Amino acid sequence: MGRFYITTPIYYANDAPHVGTAYTTVNADAMARWHRLIGDETKFLTGTDEHGQKVADAAAKHDMSPKEWTDQKSAQFRRAWDVLNISYDDFIRTTEPRHYESVQKFLTAIYDNGHIYKDVYKGLYCVSCEDYYTTESSVEGRCPIHASVLVEMEEENWFFRLSAFEERLTSFYNDHPNFVTPPTKRNEAFSFIQGGLRDISITRTSISWGVPVPWDANHVFYVWYDALINYLTAIGYGRDADEVATWWPWSHHLVGKEIIRFHCVWWPAMCMAAGLEPPAHVQVHGWLLLGGQKLSKTMAASGSVRLTDIAPIDLTNEFGVDPLRYYLLRETALGNDGDFSHEGITQRYNTDLANNLGNLVARVTTLVVSKCGGVAPRPRDNSPLRPGAELALRTAADAWNDFSPQSALEATWGLIGATNAYLELHAPWKMEQGDELNAVLGDALEAIRLVALLATPAMPEVCEAIWQRIGLSATPGEQLFAVSATWGQYPGGSIIVKGEPLFPRMKTAE
Ligand SMILES: [Zn+2]
Repeated sequence: MGRFYITTPIYYANDAPHVGTAYTTVNADAMARWHRLIGDETKFLTGTDEHGQKVADAAAKHDMSPKEWTDQKSAQFRRAWDVLNISYDDFIRTTEPRHYESVQKFLTAIYDNGHIYKDVYKGLYCVSCEDYYTTESSVEGRCPIHASVLVEMEEENWFFRLSAFEERLTSFYNDHPNFVTPPTKRNEAFSFIQGGLRDISITRTSISWGVPVPWDANHVFYVWYDALINYLTAIGYGRDADEVATWWPWSHHLVGKEIIRFHCVWWPAMCMAAGLEPPAHVQVHGWLLLGGQKLSKTMAASGSVRLTDIAPIDLTNEFGVDPLRYYLLRETALGNDGDFSHEGITQRYNTDLANNLGNLVARVTTLVVSKCGGVAPRPRDNSPLRPGAELALRTAADAWNDFSPQSALEATWGLIGATNAYLELHAPWKMEQGDELNAVLGDALEAIRLVALLATPAMPEVCEAIWQRIGLSATPGEQLFAVSATWGQYPGGSIIVKGEPLFPRMKTAE
């Protein structure tokens, strides 16, 4: 047992929660739940990024102060995450006093270490990105993200000497081959470093809605530069050194591939410059694609519905919370791009949930009620299902540990398939009461218990309901995996009640 500190990116306060941010957040939540299950001391952080000109503009447009505006927007994120049953331990807002304190202390440390200097910046500026582009990185004078015309701007800025960290970053990457996963994304970040690093401008004078630069009252920090530090604010940077020492060596940032540069290049260099170790690990995920359009929070629309327009609650109303969570975790390997479609989620629901899992639980509980007077039989030690169940336990546990929820669920559904096949083979519905019937049903009940234990990080409510169906009073998510995940612990003797279907079938779309 160890510790596990998992973070999502903080979401931009101008946005509304959508399927893309839900994807990241559900993945982080499943990881946090898995690590609690294996007994790790766990901290799960999410939050909102509330500075920058766009926030100030949006607030003004709505006749609100930036504070009132971000109060409203961050509450919207909290509500969405409550609906999705996100078990965060801390929700950070970059406008909180604790964040100002950490940012100022962190950047003062970098300044005192001589890695920040003042210069005049001249370049092509995108108002939406609040960032500069070079002629090469622009697309014919337009922002590569927003496609808006870039403006020539000249500004006195404070700069972070990123270029001085090329060598240290290179050796850090060589010494920590798993700093960024998956390997394809690690290579992308590494080649970015090898391509040569430019110093970055980290303050703005043209904006006032930001964290003030402690040594120069005319400047505020560039929004990205303050945002990254949230990961340290939440563990007490500048306020509680013990807390930082407790959590920082166990830190895992889950981020989308569009922010690799910030998290895998800038951020470790910033930590080094402040005299701190970089985070332990960055897990990168890909984009979900809908109708061939990439899911990027700022990508301009070109006609059809975008994923960023779909609120998670529209899907949970239709499919339920856990089925949506399951689909997001199961459909796409973390790190790859994946598809998101209404047909896809309907199919997963009907096949994996209704036909496989739901049907298994319904069959077994119905038979116990009709053939055993509702009293659950015990599993056998030498059950033919046991070796497969033990393999599923090992495979799924390894996959969860490895940030691979898709493989973990695949292994779990393998056990569901094997148990359904076992029932087909022995056809307990044709059996008379007696030892053989009891053995088959007891084995199946034990497999169901283990399936719910393995799937609880993905579907906490459904798995709790399954344990209740099979007469267990405990909650799978509150178990200690090492203790519960061995064959033969299903006690038998419980009273089983046949319930409503767990997953009523969905109509397939025309
Ligand atoms: Zn832009």
